[in-house]
Amino acid sequence: MVRDGIAADRLVARLAEHAEIGATPDGGVCRLALSDADRAGRDRLVAWMHELGLTVQVDRIGNVFGTRAGSEPGAAPVMTGSHLDTVATGGRYDGVYGVMAALEAVRRLDELAVTTRRPIVVAAFTNEEGVRYQPDMMGSLVHAGGLALPDALDTVGIDGTRLGDELVRIGYAGDLAVGAIRPHAFVELHIEQGPVLEAEGLAIGAVADLQGISWQEITVEGQSNHAGTTPMRLRRDAGAAAAEIVVFVRELALRFGEPQVATVGRLRLHPDLINVIPARATLTVDLRHTDEAKLQQAEAELAAFLERLAAERGLTVKSRRLARFEPVVFDQRLVRTIEAAAAARGYGVRRMTSGAGHDAQMMARIGPAAMIFVPSAGGLSHNPREHTPAEQLAQGANVLLDVLRRLAG
Ligand SMILES: [Zn+2]
Repeated sequence: MVRDGIAADRLVARLAEHAEIGATPDGGVCRLALSDADRAGRDRLVAWMHELGLTVQVDRIGNVFGTRAGSEPGAAPVMTGSHLDTVATGGRYDGVYGVMAALEAVRRLDELAVTTRRPIVVAAFTNEEGVRYQPDMMGSLVHAGGLALPDALDTVGIDGTRLGDELVRIGYAGDLAVGAIRPHAFVELHIEQGPVLEAEGLAIGAVADLQGISWQEITVEGQSNHAGTTPMRLRRDAGAAAAEIVVFVRELALRFGEPQVATVGRLRLHPDLINVIPARATLTVDLRHTDEAKLQQAEAELAAFLERLAAERGLTVKSRRLARFEPVVFDQRLVRTIEAAAAARGYGVRRMTSGAGHDAQMMARIGPAAMIFVPSAGGLSHNPREHTPAEQLAQGANVLLDVLRRLAG
């Protein structure tokens, strides 16, 4: 293993320079997928890849790959990377950190004159955030064969643009066939985007699994009426029923115990007036668990509750699925390799679950994959105040460097 690590100041300088592309006045970044800012961010990456002597390839969905050659002809490469696009109110680290740290790891290998047996590929996947075009994690999903290329290219964005046209416009409709590069293993370095590592004073998370996500929208239909003249026993109150649903999902999560979480993030009442019994309530439920059976059980219990509620209160309750991803279990050997690399450098490390979706979950469909997390100050992400101190950024990059070297041989 490499004992001395990457140059923290150069990593920080690279991140700072890249954060100027799409910079917002509040210190954040806005680089929506396939926007002009995304093009500029990609151009900078490609220039830096060329500086490092990497062979740059772009595939038909716009994923960018920079390859450092290995010594064994035909050996499957070790792939690392993440994404460069951000949400509209993004921070300076989500996604881009994993790509820039990979470049610094490559530079360190060059400085040490290390030749690995397998090639090392630095990847930047298209449209991870899914803000402008849905679904999210699109580039890695297409790479893994989970979404057909023509369907992805025909996606129409929130601004009415067609994804395939925008790819051509910004010059990133490449000619490499999607999924052409089959990695021996995939490792993604990312900020945690949550509070666990900071709260426990640890430097590194070895991400062992990723929560499954179930999103639904529930609509409750009742009867609006006068708030003063309608006796309680004669009401069909959609607002009160919505409140019962909010309480039910919270209690369900507490009853199931960790890692079950459940959230009602949106709740709208109609007509939304102080002296009128609500006729309609629309609310969203976000359920997440690492165990598919438990997630299905939570969905089933919620469905049964909604049925009872409708019958008992004389209401109509409908639910519509908005998104569903099964949980992902990462490669256990790879997770142990990450733990061992962190421990060998004397960094505090723990196994953890990712509460957010990442490109690594798509890559796990086609081969061994895992993730390395570093702390997020205050647990903040998708926020201009997203921050990770330089020392912790360097520690994560060092673990990535050691893991890449180990895997590439
Ligand atoms: Zn990300």
